[in-house]
Amino acid sequence: MTDFDLAIIGSGSGNSLVTPDFDGKKVAIIEEGVFGGTCLNVGCIPTKMFVYAAEVANTIADSARFGIDSSLDKVRWPDIRDRVFGRIDPISAGGRDYRINGDNTTAFLGHAEFVARDTLVMSTGDRITADQIVIAAGARVVLPPAFEDALARGVPFDTSDTVMRIDEVPEHLIIVGGGYIAVEFAHVFSALGAKVTLLCRSGRLLRRSDAEVGERFTEVASEQWDVRLFTEATKLTRTAAGVQLDLADGSQLTGDRVLLAVGRQPNSDRLGLAAAGVDIHPDGRVQVDQYGRTTAPGVWALGDVSSPYQLKHVANHEARAVAHNLVHPDDLRAFDHRYVPSAVFTHPQLAGVGLTEEEASAQGRNYVCAVQEYGSTAYGWAMEDTVGICKLIADRDTGLLLGAHLMGAHASSLIQPLIQGMSFGQTVTELARGQYWIHPALAEVIENALLKLDFS
Ligand code: NDP
Repeated sequence: MTDFDLAIIGSGSGNSLVTPDFDGKKVAIIEEGVFGGTCLNVGCIPTKMFVYAAEVANTIADSARFGIDSSLDKVRWPDIRDRVFGRIDPISAGGRDYRINGDNTTAFLGHAEFVARDTLVMSTGDRITADQIVIAAGARVVLPPAFEDALARGVPFDTSDTVMRIDEVPEHLIIVGGGYIAVEFAHVFSALGAKVTLLCRSGRLLRRSDAEVGERFTEVASEQWDVRLFTEATKLTRTAAGVQLDLADGSQLTGDRVLLAVGRQPNSDRLGLAAAGVDIHPDGRVQVDQYGRTTAPGVWALGDVSSPYQLKHVANHEARAVAHNLVHPDDLRAFDHRYVPSAVFTHPQLAGVGLTEEEASAQGRNYVCAVQEYGSTAYGWAMEDTVGICKLIADRDTGLLLGAHLMGAHASSLIQPLIQGMSFGQTVTELARGQYWIHPALAEVIENALLKLDFS
């Protein structure tokens, strides 16, 4: 048995909790997967590196519209893949070694479970106690019954954990799911040469987005990929050429690879939390208060295992609060979940913050909406843009923004002044006319959308 001041389960955002406040103290970091967590190894960072390559391919494919004839000669997938992991894998390995050899850290590379509020047993055979324990164990891919069954029968399929490491671009990739991961990989693989069929259970892609934006995106997506709405896979079978999917309507679909992307579930069921007295929400998230405290004294949680937002920037934010709270019990910092933005790096990009129009309506807000098309601004003309939009929802009574939803080039960056305005309580008028907007930058889409909001 070894005693620690702090034990951290999970080396993603949890790794950032080893602040100088713990110099001279003993910290255990426990990781059962690859060091560095989902974002670094199988999530945000590698996917965006693939997305960038996909954008380059799309630029070439689209150049004729600008009077430039070009052709995409060849996609060297192994080089694209190795550029990504040649950068990422050493960072992960370096982070692990740094913790293994750290002055005040001990790394346990195995699975941990609570056996008491302050005691963890490891698959490595180690048993430790810690004054404070942080659960930052993340989430994992959801496996619906048809895929549990396929797994049991040894029928191969990919998830976001595996698909970026494959050896070649599939000729026909079938993607099951219509959320973030599905549409990001649809973009990557279709731009790099695959035929993509996307099976979406409901009536539109990205169902939690603002309906108008989500519907427009579903239309644009359907022009690029074979999007099948209201479609569910019931069985997966291996064929000589790849895989066959039986669909709920009785039809079959064949392809050479299947990517499953139907959500991610918190890893709370694998940690022996009952033994520690840590409660779990009905949806599987570890229950925490606004400071990251679980129901067990001295046990904290953050990120995908407990947060309502499975987003790295939220996990980072929560980690900053918990890092402070661990050493300042009398001056706790609360999580700020008021205006959590998100972006989907598909084609075209999407970004959103705040309420959708449906939520504003359901909350009985006295709201006003405006939609500005990229194509009606000077930079939109330069881009020959035909799809980009910025939709804003504002409160008639206060003049404040309630929500912003963008679809189009650079949406993930363009939205930032709106997040800032909402976070700091600036009115639409202040945002639109209290600052210069550079002419003729693409940000004029935002300026014009703000000016379009009619409060009369
Ligand atoms: P999402 O929650 O985004 O989407 C899940 C999709 O799967 C929905 O289309 C849903 O359909 C469908 N679905 C759910 N259950 C089933 C089922 N049993 N059978 C068929 N379809 C089903 O999940 P993802 O896996 O795409 O991503 C997980 C999370 O990771 C995201 O929510 C996001 O928080 C995060 N992420 C963030 C990214 C970013 O910030 N850019 C990128 C990638 C992931 P329906 O609409 O009918 O419910």
